[in-house]
Order: sequence, then structure tokens, then C-alpha cells
Amino acid sequence: MSSIAVCPGSFDPITYGHLDIIRRGAKVFDMVYVSVMNNSSKNPLFTVEERMNLIKEVTKDLPNVKVDEHSGLLVEYAKAVNANAIIRGLRAVSDFEYEMQITSMNRVLNDEIETFFIMTNSQYSFLSSSIVKEVSKYNGNISELVPPIVEMALNKKFNR
Ligand code: ADP
Repeated sequence: MSSIAVCPGSFDPITYGHLDIIRRGAKVFDMVYVSVMNNSSKNPLFTVEERMNLIKEVTKDLPNVKVDEHSGLLVEYAKAVNANAIIRGLRAVSDFEYEMQITSMNRVLNDEIETFFIMTNSQYSFLSSSIVKEVSKYNGNISELVPPIVEMALNKKFNR
């Protein structure tokens, strides 16, 4: 049986932190679906299509990574793509409570799908899409935080 994992998130936009998790996941699982959540209550800066295109571009060297989108329940999406695992990244203890809640809920909904947590490289433990957007908005240097293509997309969004 091949191991298929879903790596869900808002990815608004993808950062080196996300990429670290995706790369680590791709080493362990036969196939990783990076799926942009289309049902987020957050007010996104990038459209789902823009977010998917950026992810595709920065993961194009990873043959076992597929970029997708989903709306509705994650476990239903996971089932539809035959995934038996969900990958989530952990940055700090502060992520833990929220992740535990979601994982427990997903387990109630479908006990067959296991959630795996990957701890990020410590250099990205402070990194989030929101921080990147905030810094970029005020023209701060984000070259260490996101791939160049994402930096360009942010500059465009902020009319630079
Ligand atoms: P969500 O809205 O689901 O939290 P995000 O795009 O913020 O979506 O995050 C998607 C996944 O990537 C989550 O598992 C999150 O913990 C993880 N993640 C985000 N930023 C980092 C980072 N800097 N290091 C490791 N994991 C991260």
C-alpha cells in the first residue's frame, strides 16, 4: 500500500516554513497533496489560484508533490484522494492546542486517517504568512522568509 498524505493549509502565501514541512513530508510519504483550503474564514490576500500557482512553482523539483485545493471537510477530501495521512507543521508550543483540537475532531470524523506533525527547522519557528504579509506591506526585507517568486508576488500585491 502506498502512503499518501495531505498537507492542508491557507498558504496565503507559501513561506520557507511551509516549504520545509512539505519537503520533509515528501521524503517520508510516497505522495503528498499540498491542498489550499478554500473554506477559510480568514480574509485572504491571494486567490486560491494564485496561491496554488506559487506552491506549484516552488515545489516543481519535488516529483511526488501535487498541488490541489479543497473546500469542506478535510477528512472527506483526504478520502477522495485516497490519503491515509494528514501532515501538519508545528512551530511552537502555541500551535499545539489548536492542532490537538483539530486532530481530535478529524479523528472523530474519520479514525482511519492519521495526523502526523512535523517540527519545523528552528530558523522558521517564528515564521507565518501573516508576519510575512505585514513585513512586506511596509517594504521590509522578506528575502530570507519566502522564495523569490513569492516576494515578487507580494510586491505586486502591494503595488511595487
Ligand atoms: P492554517 O490556516 O491551516 O493554519 P497555514 O497556511 O497557516 O494554514 O499553515 C498550514 C500548515 O503549515 C500548518 O500545519 C502550520 O502549522 C504549518 N506552518 C505554517 N508556518 C509554518 C512554519 N513557519 N514552520 C512550520 N510549519 C508551518
